[in-house]
Amino acid sequence: MTARILLLGGTGDALAIARTLGAPHIYSLAGLGRVPADLACAVRVGGFGGALGLARFLAEEDIALVLDATHPYAAQISANAARACEAAHVPYWALRRAPWQPQPGDDWRMVNGWAGVIEALAPFARPLFTLGREPLAHLDEVPERQHWTIRCLDAHPGHARARVIDARGPFTPEGERKLFTEACIDVVVSKNSGGAATEAKLAVAREMGLPVVMMRRPPLPDAQREFASAQQAIDALANDIQRSLNA
Ligand code: NAP
Repeated sequence: MTARILLLGGTGDALAIARTLGAPHIYSLAGLGRVPADLACAVRVGGFGGALGLARFLAEEDIALVLDATHPYAAQISANAARACEAAHVPYWALRRAPWQPQPGDDWRMVNGWAGVIEALAPFARPLFTLGREPLAHLDEVPERQHWTIRCLDAHPGHARARVIDARGPFTPEGERKLFTEACIDVVVSKNSGGAATEAKLAVAREMGLPVVMMRRPPLPDAQREFASAQQAIDALANDIQRSLNA
């Protein structure tokens, strides 16, 4: 029997890996975004109930390997997965997408967490937030002299001094240029997610001489094996599955 893989997802990379997995394997999503209905592997949705719940799940489902392909800022599930794997003696592999690197001409202002973002934005009037849904929880805190443009996956009514745009990448330089100009953006707020799908905003910020307030990545647990791309992880999994079939 093929050793069962639990793939932790919620990213485009994870979906690419999930598409290569067959019936015995499980793709797990938190349940905030779209749930694919066309995969050969099983799909489960929702939290496990912390590290303990996940450790229980690993034992009950006879999982032989966990591949964490969650977003680099989804620190809680990664910490839980590392702890659960250690407790259950299951190998913990992780896909760590390479972060973007500042290019000549970039003006990146590195910050930690939401408080750091707000402090760094003090001199600006028209920020574009590309952090996901976090700014939606702070709509009542938009400073008098600022107008926020918030791009995230959720449709949301917005606020007198905030506009919410629900959009899903990939984004193009042409599209970003148009948005930055129309919304009179004077600073971009970003996570250092890495990958090509949402990178155009950085090139356009550079081109237009706009600063980028960049949230630092959270520290992530050590993994037995780390991959920098979905393809690397797919190749490693294919080898591992083949080995377990031959065993
Ligand atoms: P998080 O803070 O690390 O996790 C919060 C809780 O959500 C976890 O403790 C876990 O609940 C549950 N969870 C998260 N990912 C899960 C998964 N793949 N399968 C089952 N349960 C999961 O995560 P987050 O930042 O809220 O992100 C949620 C999801 O969105 C992640 O899957 C992530 O890959 C994706 N995402 C996040 C970002 C981002 O910027 N944070 C961006 C794009 C996509 P229990 O403790 O109950 O198990």
